[in-house]
Amino acid sequence: MTEDPPTDWQFETVFADALEGVPDEQFDRDRFVPGVGPLSAAVALVGEAPGKQEVTQGEPFVGRAGQQLDRALEAVGSDRRDLYVTNLVKVRPPENRDPRADEIEAWWPVLEAELERVDPAVLVPLGSFATAELLETDATITDLHGRAFEREGWTVVPAFHPAAALYDRSKVDAVESDLETALEAV
Ligand code: URA
Repeated sequence: MTEDPPTDWQFETVFADALEGVPDEQFDRDRFVPGVGPLSAAVALVGEAPGKQEVTQGEPFVGRAGQQLDRALEAVGSDRRDLYVTNLVKVRPPENRDPRADEIEAWWPVLEAELERVDPAVLVPLGSFATAELLETDATITDLHGRAFEREGWTVVPAFHPAAALYDRSKVDAVESDLETALEAV
């Protein structure tokens, strides 16, 4: 049985202009994972960068962190298919290391283009990297998660990264309540 494609539109077409601006040395197409979901979504989730499983399947958040995300969304009565899901950096960093500043800078205009196009009511950075960039802050995710901030017309509700709940089970409830707060802010 073949699965439905995650989107009925082509990332490379819709965001062609922004993609053209990404320097070649930052755009390894073999490790590239586009954003997915309805372009009319009311909520956009922004992760850090794809991992191995995401590259294999060509979709964000389909590995272990993604399964944790799905469980959290289900617990709060939501479904990822109704959300726009993307990453700060669209190319998997080697050995799953943290994204570097030059990678974040190279991919930032693409994320901006996605957010302009989707124009979600609520933006949910997942984890510290996306939160730091989207809120332009040095404050920690521990201090910011589950709170609503207004930024450039969007309500931004940072959430703990679902991977954090894989390693620290005490974060399972926190991830769910962060997502619940975000969904209620729509
Ligand atoms: N972690 C992320 O931040 N993004 C993914 O797509 C997968 C895991």
